[in-house]
Amino acid sequence: MDKPSVKNIVILGGGTAGWMTANLLNQKWQHLGVKITVVESPDIGIIGVGEGSTPLLKVFFDSLGISESEWMPECNATYKNGITFNNWSTVNGYEGYFHPFPTSLDFATFGFLYKYSALRRKGLDILAHPNRFSLMANLTEKRLAPLPAESFPFHFQYGYHFDSVLIGKFLREKAKGLGVEHIEATVENVEQGENGDIKFLMLNTGQNLSADFFVDCSGFASILLQKTLNVPFQSFAENLFNDSAIAIPTEIEPNIPSETISTALSYGWVWKIPLTNRFGNGYVYSSKYCAPDEAEKELRAHLGLLDSDIEARHLKMKVGRSEETWRNNCVAIGLSQGFIEPLEATALQFVYSTIDEFAKAFEEGGFTNQHREEFNTRMNLNFEGIRDYIVLHYKTNSRNDTQYWIDNRENQNLSNNLKEMIECWYAIEDIEATLTRLNIGQYYSQRSWTCLLAGMGIFPRQENLDSADAENAKAAQSDLDYVDNFITGCSLNFQAHEKMLVKG
Ligand SMILES: Cc1cc2nc3c(=O)[nH]c(=O)nc-3n(C[C@H](O)[C@H](O)[C@H](O)COP(=O)(O)OP(=O)(O)OC[C@H]3O[C@@H](n4cnc5c(N)ncnc54)[C@H](O)[C@@H]3O)c2cc1C
Repeated sequence: MDKPSVKNIVILGGGTAGWMTANLLNQKWQHLGVKITVVESPDIGIIGVGEGSTPLLKVFFDSLGISESEWMPECNATYKNGITFNNWSTVNGYEGYFHPFPTSLDFATFGFLYKYSALRRKGLDILAHPNRFSLMANLTEKRLAPLPAESFPFHFQYGYHFDSVLIGKFLREKAKGLGVEHIEATVENVEQGENGDIKFLMLNTGQNLSADFFVDCSGFASILLQKTLNVPFQSFAENLFNDSAIAIPTEIEPNIPSETISTALSYGWVWKIPLTNRFGNGYVYSSKYCAPDEAEKELRAHLGLLDSDIEARHLKMKVGRSEETWRNNCVAIGLSQGFIEPLEATALQFVYSTIDEFAKAFEEGGFTNQHREEFNTRMNLNFEGIRDYIVLHYKTNSRNDTQYWIDNRENQNLSNNLKEMIECWYAIEDIEATLTRLNIGQYYSQRSWTCLLAGMGIFPRQENLDSADAENAKAAQSDLDYVDNFITGCSLNFQAHEKMLVKG
């Protein structure tokens, strides 16, 4: 590749996004003579929550050549097979379901889920709960790690749980060791050129930090993209009501689980994330429906901590996205770019895919702005694709205990794509074909959509059965026997999660 015109890149912010960006860009461009500097304020903390990932975090570490045995113990990390959603639905038998990460064996069992959930939508009383068809759900129930024996050559995608402060420190030391410069100072002002490009950052140490290109990783403050370059923020508040969170740690238990648990409470939901040394718990709720002290009380009661003086951390969340991710000589990555609430733990996945896509676009354009608009469009679609799937959890809830849940269910502020997906489910149309037609299958697959909709027990009462359906239904018991045997047999190739963890 030609020498890039960009020689100096400054990253503003030393949270997880800043250090992930520093490591990846340094790896991609250091050999081309590009110098990376991270400036972070010693006085403004990092967000310090965000402890669950999707499989893209593995792709991130793999791409840097960092092994699990190196980073996981440093970050008290555990393996994650997926997420259990409890109490989002009140439908008998469907009060909880598991959303698994994909495996290369899904083809062997999920076809039956698609078939039986279609028959059940037609009105047949038949088992269509996703957990029964998911090997990952079975491993999770048995608290097994998603790492198959060598003699079992199939691919299992998985995520991690980790301490978000420790992962930032780990990545910082890695980047510094590879030549990334680290400046501890607060940015007080930003100087722009006539064309709007950022020229330099004015630090509280008196230094002016100039660069050819800037990456805004300043968190919700979005100092460069939103505040300096005036890129408008588009709130998702009409689709997603939650704007607050409270975090409280609790003691870890023996035989550490390999899943995140999301349990619905009165005004939102609580995450329960196992690390090697503690559980991270957090109540994500809407302050429009519930005051912070009331939410804290409910969280404490849920955790059995009403009499405990263990400190709770209250946080505000800015849910939505910047209208553009890249403007002038600045790209925003992390919370400064946007944030969808943490229900499916997608934020770090976003960080990785934004860096990766930005680097590709930038390189293809010869380190100019040539592919900027396409990149911005892709980022916006990415946000909306993921947002719609998150909104579906709320839209399909069947709780009546508070106005919060009723309003969520009755909310009509849905994107056209989401409306079509819901219609497709009720009309018993093919989910895969609809995802392909709408071009949104890259965000969440047929497996994820079906697990959610079937898992919540969304089965309209109707009788559309024909004689072929009745024949199909007769095969159900032998199909289920096959699925059960297949899953039980496969699960013998996995070991206890606890045993596979290397503790720090
Ligand atoms: C309640 C909650 C739960 C979450 N759960 C998950 C999850 O399960 N999974 C997941 O992937 N993500 C989750 N996230 C998101 C995740 O925490 C963030 O995406 C991730 O930590 C990256 O944050 P960041 O680096 O963008 O911002 P921050 O961590 O806020 O870092 C901002 C950085 O900018 C610096 N800075 C700011 N202003 C200045 C200034 N003027 N001068 C110099 N430096 C400055 C700060 O010092 C800091 O270093 C969650 C977020 C919230 C709020």
